[in-house]
Amino acid sequence: MMTGNFPIEQWEGVDTPFYYYDLSILDSTLQELNTRINQFPAAAVHYAVKACATPEILRRIAAAGIGADCVSGGEIRAAIEAGIRPDKIVFAGVAKADWEIEYAIKHGIFCFNVESQAEVEVIDQIAGQLGAQPRICLRINPQVDAHTHAKITTGMKENKFGIQMSDLEEAVQDVVQRPNLSFAGLHFHIGSQITDMQVFATLCERINELVERAQQIAPVQHINVGGGLGILYEHPNHFPIPDFQGYFDTYQKGLKVQPGQTVHFELGRSIVAQCGNLITRVLYVKKGEQKQFAIVDAGMTDLMRPALYGAFHRIENLSNPDAEEETYDIVGPICESSDVFVEGYQIAKVQRGDILAIRSAGAYGEVMASQYNLRRLPGHVVSSLK
Ligand SMILES: *Cc1c(COP(=O)(O)O)cnc(C)c1O
Repeated sequence: MMTGNFPIEQWEGVDTPFYYYDLSILDSTLQELNTRINQFPAAAVHYAVKACATPEILRRIAAAGIGADCVSGGEIRAAIEAGIRPDKIVFAGVAKADWEIEYAIKHGIFCFNVESQAEVEVIDQIAGQLGAQPRICLRINPQVDAHTHAKITTGMKENKFGIQMSDLEEAVQDVVQRPNLSFAGLHFHIGSQITDMQVFATLCERINELVERAQQIAPVQHINVGGGLGILYEHPNHFPIPDFQGYFDTYQKGLKVQPGQTVHFELGRSIVAQCGNLITRVLYVKKGEQKQFAIVDAGMTDLMRPALYGAFHRIENLSNPDAEEETYDIVGPICESSDVFVEGYQIAKVQRGDILAIRSAGAYGEVMASQYNLRRLPGHVVSSLK
């Protein structure tokens, strides 16, 4: 069985489970991203910090000149500590607390992506007290179906995210007439793990209509198209770098950008997913009547995606990659039936003590870990730089 490139000999004495981040993959990803973004006129990328906030990873993203998309005060703090300039930070989220709004204004972030008219009012008040005039982009729900998992789609009507299209003019007017706010543009984000470029093409058409409507009231200087570009979970070894070219080409073709307008992208998963792996050890092999279980020391508390979204991650046996393949349910130790990484999966025969790599786990992995069952949080190891 083909496996990725892992320095397994260096992990003697390292407690499992832990996350292993391969910086060479992260660097190649950032390089490809920067190449494509430089070909796109007037664009800015803000990394969605919620995908992975591990300091070593954030610092490399900062060093590559990428900004940050934050959804909490804690994320803004982490981004600034990692070296991301506040004027490259955008702040989204349906429920920003007063302290978070104040914190963001005091640090001079680039703009607020505002998700309701009620929020406009609160930011206006706090900005007034601080004598500031923050930029506001309105998050409009464009009703474009992301054709992705129901739990990660956000762009449809009656979703808690964003302002309804029918309220666009009223919301823009409201921001424009408030002296403590500066209307900057529109924001969109329709969901995650999108690999069908047609979805982004459809989003472009809708954005063009909505920008035109908003322009009737006030200049739209910034168009933030959100993130959502997917990766190939089945093929981390063959396709470690996402299709940034197809993604940016789709926007370049589909989006009407006027002189003076800047296009903002908020990519999360596509930047960090393939550089991260959850490393775990096999504790027991248990044979049932119909199937056998490989019970490992990592569980849903370390990587929640399979239990939460039914997500697939490729798993490799690093200790015995060339053994004959057998079929297993690979499960964790947590007292929940949903603590299953994969069912009926073929992998090189495993034995107690074998080290397995759960691949493509850099995004929405370590950052979602919990201590349920009073477990230790997984640590992380970062590859040494060449
Ligand atoms: C989560 C999120 C993103 C990033 O999504 P990915 O699918 O990881 O690229 C971008 N923008 C907003 C507003 C988000 O909530």
